[in-house]
Amino acid sequence: MPLTTTKEMLKAAQKGKFAVGAFNANNMEMVQAIVEAATEEHAPVILQVSQGAIRYAGMAFAAGLVKIAAANTDVPVALHLDHGTDFDQNVLCLREGFTSLMFDGSSLPLEENIVISRRVCDIAHICGIPVETELGKVLKRGATPQEVQDAMAKPEEAERFIEDTQADSLAIAIGSVHALLSQAAELDIERLKAIRDAIPDTPLVLHGASGVLEDSVAESIQYGICKVNVATYLSQAFTYALFDSLKANPDVEDPRQHLVPAREAAKERVRAKIRLFGSNGTIKSGGGFRSPPTQHRVADIGEAED
Ligand SMILES: [Zn+2]
Repeated sequence: MPLTTTKEMLKAAQKGKFAVGAFNANNMEMVQAIVEAATEEHAPVILQVSQGAIRYAGMAFAAGLVKIAAANTDVPVALHLDHGTDFDQNVLCLREGFTSLMFDGSSLPLEENIVISRRVCDIAHICGIPVETELGKVLKRGATPQEVQDAMAKPEEAERFIEDTQADSLAIAIGSVHALLSQAAELDIERLKAIRDAIPDTPLVLHGASGVLEDSVAESIQYGICKVNVATYLSQAFTYALFDSLKANPDVEDPRQHLVPAREAAKERVRAKIRLFGSNGTIKSGGGFRSPPTQHRVADIGEAED
């Protein structure tokens, strides 16, 4: 089916208390791994492309790969810009056919973040495309616990931020950190609850989930997290499987022979995350959400996780 926006899938997630997995893809094999896993799990999925991925693959390739993958499955697939840090990048992605945008003004003073977020929302909404914005700042690996604490989203700013920006969803800093190599961070669930209570209609987004304890991720989904971003965890699986294959078969010169196990390794991790997020089985065969949306099933996490 054609690309869908994140609007309907995040609303369904909010209603059904599950989260849609948003997975970063940088190349064809990663796109295939993500969409195949979502298809087999009957789950909606968000393929997200960062500014770095656009620089790496080129805008047309990055968007084109996802569009082709979406056309060949019956689960909803959205093409999302991850961390667009300026207005122009968002406009360029809108023109390219992205079905979900993000303006990340978390490095800016609050007022400036609000002004540019609103400009992006105004132009995207004309085209029917939803926008994610960020409140607080999800920091990168290397940040101290105090820095993470200081950068967290302030619940008292949430209502005005959504009202002034008209954003469709909100990424909130609640204790996760980007690019952690192991699951160690615990989320500030009380802060999450306070934000959800302030803006109950707005789907909330968790960034940096690769480094968050799984129980904490599952709990956050119960309290309003509707989209969970995963990048590092997939990149690790892909790269390590590639490395193992190269090491075990140094005489094999055909890159496809090495990329197949890498794609499979990433796919298994996508599948496990989809189950953790409870989005598995929420799409009927042939497309469309089940009604009522499936409730989040923590018990289904099972042994799929490695
Ligand atoms: Zn992020």
